[in-house]
Amino acid sequence: MFKFLSPEPLHDPLAAPTPTDQTEVKCTTCYMCACRCGIRVHLAEGKNGPEVRYIDGNPAHPLNQGVICAKGASGIMKQVSPARLTQPLLRRPGSERGAGEFDPISWDQAMTLLTERLAKIRATDPKKFAMFTGRDQMQALTGLFARQFGTPNYAAHGGFCSVNMAAGMIYTVGGSFWEFGGPDLDRAKLFVMIGTAEDHHSNPMKIALSKFKRSGGRFISINPVRTGYSAIADEWIPIKPGTDGALFMALLHELIAQDLIDHAFLKRFTNAPQLVVLDNGPREGLFAFDPDPARGAPGDGRNPHNKLVWDLPSGSAKNAYPEGIAEGCDPALEGHYTLADGTRVAPSFQLLRERVATCTPEWAATITGIDAKRIRALALEMGDAALEQAFELPIPWTDAWGKVHPSTQARPLAFHAMRGLAAHSNGFQTVRALAVLMSVLGTIDAPGGFRHKAPYPRHIVPNYRAFNAPELIKPNTPLNAAPLGFPAHPDELAINPDGTPIRIDHAFSWEHPLSAHGLMHNVITNAAKGDPYRIDTLLIFMANMAWNSSMNTMAVREMLNRKDETGEHVIPFLVVCDAFQSETVAFADLVLPDTTYLERHDVMGMLDRPISEFDGPVDSVRVPVVAPLGQCRPFQEVLIELAARLKFPAFTTAEGTPKFTGYPDFVVNFQPQPGIGFLMGWRGKNGDEHLRGEPNPKQWEAYVANNCVFQHHMPESMHYMRNWNQAYLDFAKEKGWRQKNDPVQLALYSDTLQSFRLAAQGKSGGREPPDELRERIATYFDPLPFWYPPLEEAATDLAAYPLNAITQRPMAMYHSWDSQNAWLRQIHSHNYLHVNPLTAQAAGIADGGWCWVESQWGRVRCMLRYSEVVEPGTVWTWNAIGKADGAWQLAPGADEARKGFLLNHLISEELPFKGPHGATTISNSDPITGQAGWYDVRVRIRPAEPDEAAESFPQIAAVPAPSGVLGRAAQVLTYFAGRKKS
Ligand code: SF4
Repeated sequence: MFKFLSPEPLHDPLAAPTPTDQTEVKCTTCYMCACRCGIRVHLAEGKNGPEVRYIDGNPAHPLNQGVICAKGASGIMKQVSPARLTQPLLRRPGSERGAGEFDPISWDQAMTLLTERLAKIRATDPKKFAMFTGRDQMQALTGLFARQFGTPNYAAHGGFCSVNMAAGMIYTVGGSFWEFGGPDLDRAKLFVMIGTAEDHHSNPMKIALSKFKRSGGRFISINPVRTGYSAIADEWIPIKPGTDGALFMALLHELIAQDLIDHAFLKRFTNAPQLVVLDNGPREGLFAFDPDPARGAPGDGRNPHNKLVWDLPSGSAKNAYPEGIAEGCDPALEGHYTLADGTRVAPSFQLLRERVATCTPEWAATITGIDAKRIRALALEMGDAALEQAFELPIPWTDAWGKVHPSTQARPLAFHAMRGLAAHSNGFQTVRALAVLMSVLGTIDAPGGFRHKAPYPRHIVPNYRAFNAPELIKPNTPLNAAPLGFPAHPDELAINPDGTPIRIDHAFSWEHPLSAHGLMHNVITNAAKGDPYRIDTLLIFMANMAWNSSMNTMAVREMLNRKDETGEHVIPFLVVCDAFQSETVAFADLVLPDTTYLERHDVMGMLDRPISEFDGPVDSVRVPVVAPLGQCRPFQEVLIELAARLKFPAFTTAEGTPKFTGYPDFVVNFQPQPGIGFLMGWRGKNGDEHLRGEPNPKQWEAYVANNCVFQHHMPESMHYMRNWNQAYLDFAKEKGWRQKNDPVQLALYSDTLQSFRLAAQGKSGGREPPDELRERIATYFDPLPFWYPPLEEAATDLAAYPLNAITQRPMAMYHSWDSQNAWLRQIHSHNYLHVNPLTAQAAGIADGGWCWVESQWGRVRCMLRYSEVVEPGTVWTWNAIGKADGAWQLAPGADEARKGFLLNHLISEELPFKGPHGATTISNSDPITGQAGWYDVRVRIRPAEPDEAAESFPQIAAVPAPSGVLGRAAQVLTYFAGRKKS
């Protein structure tokens, strides 16, 4: 007690841990959320070997610098979770999917069964195997597995998470937020956070925000809800969901009208001065280019170096590269011109200026709910921060055209945005609008602005084409390209000659051409319909598709158990791999028990999503700190073994024996190109080479000896302006992060989008979309950003359903992972619908009262809380707190099931719009990227009747505990509270 009142710190977090006889400390990487902080796991000898005693942050780790959050510290309770699966399970013959009745089987039986089934599919029609994974951090391996199998039906969770944020930014500036880049809060003076969940990019953001606020920075949060980070913002600007794009367009209007733009930056580093063809025809809306083949191939979206600009001093067209930006050239940003051959052209910035001309603050005010005066003032504030408060760092650098810049221009205006912008069917163009806003102020990879993290920036469009050749889906043959990529032209779509999708999720088809992360949210619906074909086996890893990962949850559960006229399931075989008894496990035919993050090897490397910092690349690993529980096996090991059993070329020697002894061996020795592997630290035979080098048999040991992390510090001259920084571009190419070392001009105007529009208008002379989709593509594939209402509104009676309903994940839990966590459940075990008092009172609902929330798709009953920090037209709740009774080994009648609820029941995965080939529905997704439109649903609220049950609706019948699950945590709680073991 007295120690708590003492001015002395309780402990020094920077002091080295002091192991005693009883304790040992091992470093690894947290996975209680996706941020990947460094942790120290303190162990003591238990009954069956070392047991976790507590977890703290690793002060020597560059990402979190010792900081740990509630989730990270509670990893111990994940380890001893009552919901742990411990042995492979096979659905009991004759039992229904969803009933959760299983028989235990051995791993040998499970692997034999799976190998035989998959071998048969691979030898006949490989696309009948579909593999979709949740928030895993090993897509370089899972993607390789699918490619080697020969199926295009693979994706991870990005399509229902934030692909709009990734794709919208990457197609515009070559990078994006979070793993790809972020705000430079060390040098920013104004920070604007938009549409970000309570704790996105958790510990690193908290550390950066703390420093930023202490040093006097101003923080504005734009969000319908003020919680989490927004709670410490200097100003909260409430906004209606799905309208951020209108705000950005109005800010662009105002900045351009006031001439608050970075002219020099726009002319040299973006496609703003490049000339767009205005004449009707196949080149309409594309960039004019120099037809001289000596200057490079015609622009195709991947090769933009022979475009033209209008040189003001000479009054003539000149090459944008290299001459257009040579000394003495002053390219026009405005005006209309005529080329020597009579072609009418205009700089793309002129078209942007014309586009935003009508997007006045008054126009945006009626859409966003933000006062026009505030929008005007915000634009001035942004312009002032970026331009008036600008400064220079004494860091010389040389650009891709050989010009030496004696210093680096800082633009101290930083943004951070995430799923609040992305998870709408207008999200791609909204994110494009934000990226253009950031670009006109010159903030891209500038000190104080947005900064890339290696291996970004990518080329625009990235040089990764998704598999798109249906004739190359052949028995026992790997695909010639990865299943996922970045299309740059209709010719790269994954469609059959008749225009139908190659993939089960319809990704990269005319329905969602740029779906860089796939559409996991439509896999089950499409497979159940046999659209475009029936599949045989669906493997789901770490995704709760029978509950919080699906829209229209109850219908998806029905589809998982649906049978055809022959009595066979419409999805004949369902494999679920998970560490915990989620709701989805009950539907599996085969359950594979995975390990926790403390029991396995993992890699967060450059082939996937590294943890790079602004100043250089960083990768990290997880290593087992305790033995796997029961018969749990890391999914990585299962994949490596399956790949060898199925004789995938990349995993098998010429003699047909396994190439790798297991996952650690694979990580060390697999090289997609010479010298490039999964990890970049301590390469070379002796471990003395970094970034590139021969495999090092002792690489894992080197990581273990170095806090499980490798960081490379680049010289200061490579820290900024990396889209155009020749030293960096050369370095990145040499290290295998880029295929070319040419500059990445920002795409304010997207000729890639225009190429799809021309196809839809029948002007391209190439592939054209089905008639039902022509208008959709011509409308949404606009080469300039624009705002349109979320698609669902056109199918909704807005008077009957006047409110927006949104979710966000809570600070103390990561989606559904933590409902079984005995410590975190004490922070919250159920959720409320948070509603502005004015809105709730108008509906006659008391604070804490039960109410119905209804959309046109479904209804839920839940408890409501008054909240002043949500704008009156929006209601919100946390996602994934509500649970099905009995899942996750929660006690019967647990709060999560009786009081908690899921908003997903109100959301449809499809919208009633005409699709191609006679379809009457189309995915509830962004028409460009296929990003799930989670936040587009409209609802109404009313009080529950006094005689209705005081419990949430719908309720799900409890399922029995599968054999092998650990059971309740009561004993564990007592034990860890320091009391006597019972
Ligand atoms: S933010 Fe918390 S839960 Fe996420 S990785 Fe870091 S310590 Fe773990």
